Amino acid sequence: MREIYLDNSATTRVMPEVAELMCNIMTGDYGNPSSMHLKGVEAERYLKNSREKLASILKVQEKEILFTSCGTESDNIALLGTARANMRRGKHLITTKIEHPAILNTMKQLEEEGFEVTYLGVDSYGVISLTELEEAIREDTILVSIMHINNEIGSVQPIAEAGALIKKKNPNTYFHVDAVQSFGKQKIYPKKMNIDMLSVSGHKIHGPKGIGFLYISDKVKIKPVMFGGGQQGGLRSGTENVPSIAGMALAAEYLYTNYEEDVLKLYLLKKKFIEEVTKIDGVSVNGVKVVPENTENSIEALAQYLASPHVISVSVKEVRSEVLLHSLEDKGIYVSAGSACSTHKRTPSATLVAIGLDKPLLESTVRFSLGIYNEEQDIDDAVKAMSEIIPMLKMYTRKR
Ligand code: PLP
Repeated sequence: MREIYLDNSATTRVMPEVAELMCNIMTGDYGNPSSMHLKGVEAERYLKNSREKLASILKVQEKEILFTSCGTESDNIALLGTARANMRRGKHLITTKIEHPAILNTMKQLEEEGFEVTYLGVDSYGVISLTELEEAIREDTILVSIMHINNEIGSVQPIAEAGALIKKKNPNTYFHVDAVQSFGKQKIYPKKMNIDMLSVSGHKIHGPKGIGFLYISDKVKIKPVMFGGGQQGGLRSGTENVPSIAGMALAAEYLYTNYEEDVLKLYLLKKKFIEEVTKIDGVSVNGVKVVPENTENSIEALAQYLASPHVISVSVKEVRSEVLLHSLEDKGIYVSAGSACSTHKRTPSATLVAIGLDKPLLESTVRFSLGIYNEEQDIDDAVKAMSEIIPMLKMYTRKR
C-alpha cells in the first residue's frame, strides 16, 4: 500500500540531505563546541554557520539566534523569560484564545505567578481583530504573544499590522510570535514587522525533532529559565545539539531557497483538495474562503482566500474524527484528528470553539496538512478515499 502522509503540521519527513549531514556530524565531527581543542572548534564552526544561515533568512543578527530543544521551549523561554525579567514595569500580558498549548499553558503558569492575561477572540476565519488588540494594550502591558499560522485551521494572523500597532500604542510592549507553523511558509522579517521574539521548531520544516530556535532582539530584557554551564550567553545552558542545529539550519536554507516554487505548489494542492473534497456530501472546510474562478495562480493571490498554504481543517457531518482518521489510515493515509497535540485530551479544541464551529462538528473535524513531498496524486487518492469512506461511515452512524 502506498503511504500518503498528510500530517505535516504534526511533523515532517527529514530531508535526506539533512539526515546525511547529521549522520556525518554525529559520527565524525562529534566534538563539544565548548571544548578548546580542534574537535570543539570544528563543532563550534557548525553552530556559527547555522546561526549565520538562520540570521540571514530572518535578516537579523547572528547573536540574536538562541538554540533551544523545540518550539515549546522557545515559547516557554520567550514568555517566562521576559515576563519575569520585566515584572517591575507591569504584569499584564496579551495572547489569543487559539494559541498552541505551549503558549496557553505557559500563560496559565504566569497567571499563577500573579500576571494578568487578556485572551483575544477570533472571527469565524480564526483571525484576531486589530481594534480589539489595540484596545487591550495598556500602560502596564509588557508582552503580546500571537501565533502566526494556527496549527489546527491554518488561519494567518496580521502579524506586521499587529507589530506596528503594538509599538504605536506602547513602545515598551514586547511582541512575541509563535512561528512554528509559518517558518518556511511565510517570509518573516522581525525587524521590519516589529517582532521582538520569534519561535521556530526544526521538525515542522523537514528538519529533525528535538530542536528549535528563538530569535530574540538584542533589545529585549530576558532572564534564563534554566541554569547550568552558561552556554549561549547563559540564557540557555546545556551542551548545544550540534547535529540537529546544523540539520535544522540546512532544512531552513533549503526551504527559503525554493520558497516561491514550493509554497505555490502547496497552495495549488490545497486549492485542489478543497475544491474536490467539498463536493462530498456533508463535508465543509474551516477557515478558508472560496477562491474566485479567475484568481491568479500566485502565492499572494491564493493566500487571500486560502490563508496558510498547508493546513486544511475538514469537518464531516455525522462522522467522528477518530473513526475517519482510522478509516483513512487503513488506506495508508495519515491525518490528524483536529490537532495532534490536543488528541491526548477529551476536551473539544479551543480553536474550533473560538471560530464558532457548530457543536456537532467539534468532534467531527480532521486536519490534513501538506508538506513539500506531497504531490497531486496524494490529493487525488485522499479525495477518492474520503468519497468512499464517508457514505459508508454515515450509514453505520445512522444504523446505530
Ligand atoms: N507552536 C505551534 C503553533 C505548534 O504547532 C507546535 C507543534 O505542533 C508547537 C508550538 C510546539 O512545537 P514542538 O513540537 O517543537 O515543541
